[in-house]
Amino acid sequence: MTIATTLTPCDLDAIAALAKSDLAPIARKIDEERVYPEAVLRAMGGAGAYGTHIGGTDAAVDLGPAILSMAKASETCLSTGFCMWCQDALAWYIASSDNDWLKTNLLPGIAKGEILGGTGMSNPMKSIAEIEPLRLKGTRVEGGYSVKGLLPWVSNLSEGGYFGVMFGVEGDGGPRTVMAIAHADAGKGVKLKLDHDFVAMGGTATVNVQFRDVFIPDEYVIGDPAPAFIKRIRAGFVLLQCGMAAGMIRSAIDQMEQVKGPLGHVNQYLERQPEDIEAEYDALVAEVLALARTPYDDTDALWKRVLQARLKGGELAVEAAHYAMLHCGARGYVSQGAAQRRLREAYFVAIVTPATKHLRKMIAAL
Ligand SMILES: Cc1cc2nc3c(=O)[nH]c(=O)nc-3n(C[C@H](O)[C@H](O)[C@H](O)COP(=O)(O)OP(=O)(O)OC[C@H]3O[C@@H](n4cnc5c(N)ncnc54)[C@H](O)[C@@H]3O)c2cc1C
Repeated sequence: MTIATTLTPCDLDAIAALAKSDLAPIARKIDEERVYPEAVLRAMGGAGAYGTHIGGTDAAVDLGPAILSMAKASETCLSTGFCMWCQDALAWYIASSDNDWLKTNLLPGIAKGEILGGTGMSNPMKSIAEIEPLRLKGTRVEGGYSVKGLLPWVSNLSEGGYFGVMFGVEGDGGPRTVMAIAHADAGKGVKLKLDHDFVAMGGTATVNVQFRDVFIPDEYVIGDPAPAFIKRIRAGFVLLQCGMAAGMIRSAIDQMEQVKGPLGHVNQYLERQPEDIEAEYDALVAEVLALARTPYDDTDALWKRVLQARLKGGELAVEAAHYAMLHCGARGYVSQGAAQRRLREAYFVAIVTPATKHLRKMIAAL
């Protein structure tokens, strides 16, 4: 199936084929040896995975194909699915802004996977929800901002990549926040340090990012002040993550189905069966794809549905992976078993920002 959009066509069949031919054989290596699947991520861009949710009028935007592409990769490897989300989020920020310079100079390369990058927005999202203070501070200087501080985790990021950030500015018209795209350029004071100390998701090129008086030019600013812009991108940011959840849940259902032959006679006594999970999965995917057609609707009513869908995605991903482990038994518990890797990965869907607790806080506030 090929889906045409203004910037790139997305070939879902090609994405599924890539996941099978190029990703599946290295999924264990990505997990065990923390290999960053750069070639696969670039090939996904070539197949249009990062280009369907950008370009065109607000009313024409549909996040569905981007979510389905990410889900396809996440069925096999969540590190790859998450890196695809990072790439999608970066493109989403620029496409949703009115910054023509970035749209002309960076966006086409990001959409095709030629330029890789991500987003350092977990801390800002938590700061907006009053969970933790904002870590980056900016000062207005001639032609832009000088920014300092530390982001503990930014994924899909290597030297030369790009990523979305938000920093606080004191003075210059009062305290406010600004959102911009940063360039991981050591020569300009952006220092990256690989952070691999995780139980899973080690193949995500996740780095600590230190800003030492980094100059961010006005051409890289996408929201000044940031709050109105954050309101515009928030639904897309959260909804796109549902691709990771969908892929993880689908994979757990498939694992349970695969052991039905040898173990069905006893697995039938388990509380949750693949059919139960599949019914919830179908309802969730239908809701996500419906919401994906109006990502620029900034009403509280839509926002609440988005948060609830994302919460369901995280909780069902963990539950499905847990039941896949129980259904697979010892087959899943050996070190080469997919079930144990998928269970470790599944928790990431529930703890990446907005984490389950963060989502519940935001829903309670609504
Ligand atoms: C593999 C991976 C990739 C990530 N990629 C990105 C990314 O691309 N962009 C991005 O913005 N965020 C990224 N994050 C961060 C992620 O989105 C969450 O913000 C993070 O997992 C914590 O979220 P939480 O809401 O559960 O906060 P909590 O874990 O409840 O709290 C976070 C706070 O705990 C502190 N903390 C963290 N580790 C420790 C520790 N070992 N001991 C004591 N305190 C600690 C932190 O300073 C922080 O203030 C990534 C995280 C992981 C694990």
